[in-house]
Amino acid sequence: MKVLVVSGGVISGLGKGITTSSLGRLLKARGIPVTIVKIDPYLNVDAGTMNPYQHGEVFVLDDGTEADLDLGNYERFLGQSLSGGHNLTTGKIYRSVIDKERRGDYLGNTVQIIPHVTGEIKRTIRELAEANGAEVILVEVGGTVGDIESMPFLEALRELSYEVGEGHMAFVHTTLVPVVGPVGEAKTKPTQHSVRELRAIGIRPNVIIARGPAPLSPDIKAKISLFCDVPPEAVISVPDQATIYEVPLVLEAQGVGPLLARLLRLPDREPEYAAWKEFLATYRRADRPIEIAVVGKYTELRDAYLSHAEAFHHCQGHLGVEVGMQWYDAEDLTRNPALLGRIARSDGLLVPGGFGARGVEGKVQAIELARREQIPFLGVCYGFQMAAVELARNVLGLAEANTTEVAPATPEPVVCLLEEQKTLPGLGGTMRLGAQKVLLTPDSALARLYGKTELWERHRHRYEINPKYLERFAAAGLSVAGMSVDGRVEAFELAGHPFFFGVQYHPEFLSRPESPHPLYLGLVRAAVARKEVAPRAAPAPAVA
Ligand code: GLN
Repeated sequence: MKVLVVSGGVISGLGKGITTSSLGRLLKARGIPVTIVKIDPYLNVDAGTMNPYQHGEVFVLDDGTEADLDLGNYERFLGQSLSGGHNLTTGKIYRSVIDKERRGDYLGNTVQIIPHVTGEIKRTIRELAEANGAEVILVEVGGTVGDIESMPFLEALRELSYEVGEGHMAFVHTTLVPVVGPVGEAKTKPTQHSVRELRAIGIRPNVIIARGPAPLSPDIKAKISLFCDVPPEAVISVPDQATIYEVPLVLEAQGVGPLLARLLRLPDREPEYAAWKEFLATYRRADRPIEIAVVGKYTELRDAYLSHAEAFHHCQGHLGVEVGMQWYDAEDLTRNPALLGRIARSDGLLVPGGFGARGVEGKVQAIELARREQIPFLGVCYGFQMAAVELARNVLGLAEANTTEVAPATPEPVVCLLEEQKTLPGLGGTMRLGAQKVLLTPDSALARLYGKTELWERHRHRYEINPKYLERFAAAGLSVAGMSVDGRVEAFELAGHPFFFGVQYHPEFLSRPESPHPLYLGLVRAAVARKEVAPRAAPAPAVA
């Protein structure tokens, strides 16, 4: 087993996830089977119960695990589907250590962080690499070196490097090199400090990846090399890029591929990037700008809708269309109706998933606009449920129609709790989660979009469309385009509209740079068509 550890210094939010994903891509491009694990040193068992404002989007895996959003980056960069074992949290580790202690597995010993917690971490990493048939396992340690939380993990990795031996494990440390002052001087001191912190716990980094606004000059690289005891060719500069998908090539250009091969004693084959480079070339030369309005609740934090944004970037790299996203807080729409006028000038509308009552009326208003003004529309999960509410109210004339999530006593519950949810205790990991089979109506527009009638899509919801209303919906032109095997409504489409789809599942989790999701491609194509047929005088002004 070979292990490549990626740690982070100075601050969080440096793009460590993208760095790890890109390093994985470098190895994969050389035909080396890889897998990745993300360590999240918080006590939550998984990300499912966390507010998107704190950690960004909750990314759902095939097996229904609600994971950190970096798992989404890994899947997109590696083109591989991962499972829950690839997201290791302190909560998970402690839970299994405590379960073992209660069973008596420790045979009367005092159970301690070292060796029991660290032992559990090492065992989990080894088993994961083995179960995945991976030659190299990349381990991304969340948080910043020096945090109390991540100590047991770094200690476990230090022990592991000793066990697997020379040439089997390497440490990549990602840091910030800020540029400060009137002359824009690059500062290495924070990097020096964070490397010192790492060395204090017995880890000597082999590679330093310096993040910052601009490329590092040779003398700054030399300075980091000298102070941090890393050879100059292992000080790598990754300045901000126009798209994250450039990062593997930025690393390649500085010789990181052969460097990793040397450090891990792997064959250094010629890397293969044909499809990746084609994607990037199309992405870079994209013109024909279009604007997609996104109406959600967590719009101040873009990471809350990361996979949607990535899905649109994937379309840009395939269609050569510059996809701009305009973010609207759904609550603002009800306070400031002029915003609806701006959405009317957009080329498409996405209403993503969400929970709770805040902002739902704004979502309903935006959807009504898209329906009336023939604006291409995609409703995902809550967005789909709100489309059903909108139609029920404004087309079927059921003024009080709602989801029971917002109005438990509504006389017209067009969206209601899944039967099995009524008796489930707790909020952690109890939704209808993960990949479920969806059967599309054979002659539906949705089936034409996908080019098939059987799919697997990922889910995360508690409520569903009430089948009692289906006939009335169909009479109003909103017909069922997809059903689950056990008869739940999975997708709707609206007749007489250029593009109006709602899906109960989350297509954004399956879009990848090398294979964009058909629903996003469809939305972007429809948006281009709308713009070309009816060019509007000026693009909608940006919203802060
Ligand atoms: N709140 C809705 C439900 O639980 C939708 C969930 C979502 O959008 N992910 O069914």
